[in-house]
Amino acid sequence: MNEADPSLAQAVEAVVDEAPFPLVSAAFLQAFGRPPEALSSAPGRVNLLGEHTDYNDGFVLPVAIPQRTRVALGQASGPLTRVQAQVLGTTAHFSHDQPPTEPFARYVYGCLRLAEEAGLALPPLDICIASDVPLGVGLSSSAALEVAVLRALRARFATGWDDVQIARMAQRAEIEHAGVRCGILDQMASSLADPFQALFLDTRSLERRLVPLPSGAAILVLDSGISRSLATSGYNERRAECEAAAQALGVAALRDVDDPARAAALPAPLDRRARHVITENARVLQAAAGVDAETFGALMNASHASLRGDYEVSVPPLDWLVARLQREPGVFGARLTGAGFGGACVALCAADRLAAIAEPVLADYAAEGEQGRQLVP
Ligand code: ADP
Ligand code: MG
Repeated sequence: MNEADPSLAQAVEAVVDEAPFPLVSAAFLQAFGRPPEALSSAPGRVNLLGEHTDYNDGFVLPVAIPQRTRVALGQASGPLTRVQAQVLGTTAHFSHDQPPTEPFARYVYGCLRLAEEAGLALPPLDICIASDVPLGVGLSSSAALEVAVLRALRARFATGWDDVQIARMAQRAEIEHAGVRCGILDQMASSLADPFQALFLDTRSLERRLVPLPSGAAILVLDSGISRSLATSGYNERRAECEAAAQALGVAALRDVDDPARAAALPAPLDRRARHVITENARVLQAAAGVDAETFGALMNASHASLRGDYEVSVPPLDWLVARLQREPGVFGARLTGAGFGGACVALCAADRLAAIAEPVLADYAAEGEQGRQLVP
């Protein structure tokens, strides 16, 4: 596998970061009474294929979304770090050795601690966060926040961290300080993906390359409006099941099995869980090898069926929305995206039909008594 060609992603980054950041700069000025010393941003992401594979050392295929989290940062005059979150209307105050009580500030605190572990002597900071990445629907606002904070530190203190280092630090911040046992998918996607090509990533080796979207295809993301109430508990349970399945099969991780028939030897429900991971990895590899839009869409449909039946992380309204999308002319394929138990779904659509798809689908969804919304484009 080749190293990803970072030139396009970097060009996008440069253009976006040259933008004047009016909202976050003004918010910083208003909150702290002086201009910021560094600005940064990082995108959310939508995963096209490869769900629940990253903590099994497997393959994923995310693409960056246009929405970004922006961070403005400067040295604080007082003894405390202050973090203002525009979307929450909240400011958290904390010191080096006293983790904040506000959950959102733990992501930031984690990034600062990881930066110190990497050798940076940090003064107390003032930080302002503005974002149009939807929170908590599976588009990875948490990783966008972490990566944007670490990029702001890189800019302010000239640390020279590369994008993979930033992704690894961001993942550790989320695991060790926000208490989420996440894989590396979200942070690698926010740090390295671009909005025009998918990032094919081997989460074991971190080898990666950019893969063009099938020609004539474009991405649509709809929020089911179902909050991911069981996401954390269900996620941790699935992780434990995968570890048990790998142990029973005598492999380091389910990534090391590529024949789905081997899963049949496991007791239920480990057989179904393992089958999802094994077949999902195969779907990512097939898509990344380069397929047309119809084939890519069929792989997405198969991924949803596997997430629903074998991995059991869907919920009825999401199934309804995905099935409705799959029936809409111009949709090549659709599936839930993110951890599941609610949240968003993603569809691969004919680019020339893209603008006409969401409205009738969401109208029918509303007639079912559910409130969805379009998130991308
Ligand atoms: P996802 O990453 O799919 O959006 P998570 O539950 O992993 O969902 O992360 C969402 C959490 O991340 C929020 O509840 C909040 O604590 C934090 N967060 C993300 N973006 C922001 C932001 N712009 N401002 C404040 N907190 C944020
Ligand atoms: Mg997250």
